[in-house]
Amino acid sequence: MKLTNPYQAVADLSHPAKVCAWVAPELVQWNESLSQELGLKLNEAQKVALASGQGDFPSAALAYAGHQFGQFVPLLGDGRAHLLGAWQDANLRCWDIQLKGSGVTPFSRRGDGWCALGAAIREYVMSEALHGLGVATTRTLAVVKTGETIMRQSGPTDGALVTRVAASHIRIGSFQYLAARQEIVSLRALMELAITQHYPMIVAQGDERVLSFFQHVISAQIRLIVDWMRIGFIHGVMNTDNTLVSGDTIDYGPCAMMNQFDFQRVFSSIDSQGRYAYGQQPQIIQWNLARLAECLLVLMSAPQELARTQLVAVLDSFSEEFNQQFTQMWMNKLGLLASDGDQQVLIQSLLEHMRAHRLDYTNTFDALTLRLSGHGGVVHASLETWFKQWQLIVEDKFADKRVALMHQANPRVIPRNHFIETIIEQFEQTGQSALFSQLMQAMQTPYQLADADVALQDEPHFPDESYQTFC
Ligand code: AMP
Ligand code: MG
Ligand code: MG
Repeated sequence: MKLTNPYQAVADLSHPAKVCAWVAPELVQWNESLSQELGLKLNEAQKVALASGQGDFPSAALAYAGHQFGQFVPLLGDGRAHLLGAWQDANLRCWDIQLKGSGVTPFSRRGDGWCALGAAIREYVMSEALHGLGVATTRTLAVVKTGETIMRQSGPTDGALVTRVAASHIRIGSFQYLAARQEIVSLRALMELAITQHYPMIVAQGDERVLSFFQHVISAQIRLIVDWMRIGFIHGVMNTDNTLVSGDTIDYGPCAMMNQFDFQRVFSSIDSQGRYAYGQQPQIIQWNLARLAECLLVLMSAPQELARTQLVAVLDSFSEEFNQQFTQMWMNKLGLLASDGDQQVLIQSLLEHMRAHRLDYTNTFDALTLRLSGHGGVVHASLETWFKQWQLIVEDKFADKRVALMHQANPRVIPRNHFIETIIEQFEQTGQSALFSQLMQAMQTPYQLADADVALQDEPHFPDESYQTFC
């Protein structure tokens, strides 16, 4: 299998690093449909070899910096991941194939370089679920048990590897790393690599090229955050090193799905201030994009004051574009049309109701969708007054059109936290999980629900405010 390393074009970013050798790595999960999409034709032995990095790959660890909870760290880098190389598919698109949990690298600092089986399974379930939900994301090709026992807060556990497939691993933190070191030639090469990989439609040259690149990254991130919020996804650790310029989701460490609606909802054990709460995500991404702008400033040839003004003008377009898409998202979720006029008050009052009455986000919108489509749907008693106001608007000659919008915006199944925990326990205890297979099957068409899968709509038995996730 021939893999190349596209980051060699960006001096200083890519550092040769060998994957650890394991005695008997064991394939826990292989993503056959992704494998087919990529055009991989591998026998069992070749799958294990790829997913454990045992082969002749141009493997490397990538350097990056990043703001972690607002604090700048000039050197982070792949501390427990190895890029095996990029694979070119039949459409000539390149895909990074990266192992996570593959041992120490030059960037491991005090970390052990390992990944726990539970964390690997979480990444598989969540990334493939988001893909099924139509949210831009890195993917998971495989999970392997390394055969090592590793130590985590919870005690000894199985070591594992995630095989991550990504359109690139170009992070805002990658730009920050080079900018902090004043590596201007590499910085420009990185922007060119990102344009080639993600925004080949950009033809402008000079400063316009830089501004256009920035604009494209902003739009991709707006799309992503609006999609996250549409499905109730809380990333949990939106540090600038976990923000890809492609606009794909990366780093499924402390992520979680929201059950009871609340803009303040946080699950990450280390996010004590709620910096990365569900409703904070738009402000945080805007802040991260401002950090990218700082890096791009040095690539501009206009006098610094003018260049700064131009970049700020692009950054300022964030709010309008975000608000437009965010409002459209809520309108779609409620089947509202532009011709209904401004329905901000109706939207706000529903969200406030859901929060005050601790209503389940996914199931509330599902019930509304079912009600309008005439397929039942039990709307919570506390919502009756609001419901009547909504009915007055949506039960008209456009009802079919409204239902279609709602069906596309409101998933019927999501990868709920309590199911993920059960799946992880099953894998840890028995090496397999029937619930995993059922959920992964259901997440391929999450806007429909098979009769056999209604149990996947179950809300947690206890309020999950104390549920915690870990990096
Ligand atoms: P994250 O919170 O996953 O975005 O990781 C932040 C930084 O910590 C990155 O540089 C990771 O490579 C590094 N890191 C996380 N876990 C480990 C580990 N077990 N061993 C070495 N480095 C790690
Ligand atoms: Mg990370
Ligand atoms: Mg992580």
